Amino acid sequence: MASKPSPHILVLGAGVTGLTSALFLAEVGYGVTVVAAHMPGDESWEYTSPWAGAHWRTHAQADDLRMRDWDVQTYDYWCERLDQEKTDRSLPRAGIKIYDSHHLWSSPVREDLWWTPYVKDFRQLSPEQEPVLSINAALPAAKKIRHAAANRSVAVNVPQYLRYLQNRARALGVVFVKARIPVSEGFAGALAAAERITGKGQAAGFVNATGISARWVCGDEGVYPIKGQTVLVKGEAEALWTWLGEQAGRSAYCIPRPGSGMTILGGTKAAGIWEAEVEEDVTERILRECRGLVPELMTGVDGGFEVVSVQCGLRPARVGGARVEGEWVAGRWVVHAYGHAGGGYQNSVGSAREVVGLIGEGINGDRVTPRL
Ligand SMILES: Cc1cc2nc3c(=O)[nH]c(=O)nc-3n(C[C@H](O)[C@H](O)[C@H](O)COP(=O)(O)OP(=O)(O)OC[C@H]3O[C@@H](n4cnc5c(N)ncnc54)[C@H](O)[C@@H]3O)c2cc1C
Repeated sequence: MASKPSPHILVLGAGVTGLTSALFLAEVGYGVTVVAAHMPGDESWEYTSPWAGAHWRTHAQADDLRMRDWDVQTYDYWCERLDQEKTDRSLPRAGIKIYDSHHLWSSPVREDLWWTPYVKDFRQLSPEQEPVLSINAALPAAKKIRHAAANRSVAVNVPQYLRYLQNRARALGVVFVKARIPVSEGFAGALAAAERITGKGQAAGFVNATGISARWVCGDEGVYPIKGQTVLVKGEAEALWTWLGEQAGRSAYCIPRPGSGMTILGGTKAAGIWEAEVEEDVTERILRECRGLVPELMTGVDGGFEVVSVQCGLRPARVGGARVEGEWVAGRWVVHAYGHAGGGYQNSVGSAREVVGLIGEGINGDRVTPRL
């Protein structure tokens, strides 16, 4: 007896959100096509995923139970993948690695550290002891680090991780079509256009993972950018560092890019800026603030960092937070998955599992959120 064809799901977008959703949908047996204007390897201000640091350091507020859960799920999933890679050398490498992650505060700690029981090896650090002691020695009194903590956390080699997700999805039969979906005929028109592009007839469901462009694709005016600038330097730092400053939107961070021999230094958060131009004074500020954190990377002939590139990306933020929910649009079931702002990687596993559950709810009336 011929087996029943699996429902066909069309995923719009090939950033970390679309790729993880496509992979998980394929893993539970859907036929999946991804249509996107930008694919892994491409660079554009409209495509945020290649510009991320990226590491796991949750942005979820204590009362945001949904985002907390997404982030904890991603942390656990990444740790499990790393364990599997260790025991099975034939598995493709995700480009993720676990490091000591340090958190430094020059001001009183205002964030709620709800996440400490969920991460490996959380501990308070004394500013009177190494590694903070040496960092403080070079700082003026007003900037000295007064509180510090550490835990084990994950850094992501972003270009490698995007290709890894795409390859795993491809291996399960996911088809990738590089095309820009026209948005001039409204959202329903965009969905119909996506179906025409794939040539596979009416899809059983859609995932709208179009990042910052959701503002135009589905007309969500709550979507806005948070610009971030980073500097890629030679040398792979031995640990992760995040230094929270006094000013909102200001923190210095160092994120080794696993296996690449390079490290991302950051960063900035400038809300509402719709351009991705590099600012020279910001580059200098980032390099200055990161000096004390990763002295092992000061390998330039002048005693400074060896800069590889400087870049900016637009984090896809949304008033009210990320939108992961289903809706019927002109008879088509759409699961939205956009607006993850500065946490798209650490949200990705939990968010994509929710997408799978919501697709099932629309198609079968049966919302089962799988733990893949
Ligand atoms: C400097 C910086 C540092 C960051 N650091 C971290 C970090 O440490 N940890 C973390 O978790 N996150 C981090 N982020 C955030 C993270 O990068 C984003 O949340 C995430 O990349 C968003 O992914 P996405 O898939 O939702 O969107 P995107 O990656 O932007 O993907 C959108 C997709 O939609 C497609 N698309 C849009 N419109 C159309 C159309 N009309 N037709 C066809 N395709 C279309 C695009 O081509 C693209 O494929 C950082 C971001 C920046 C900028």
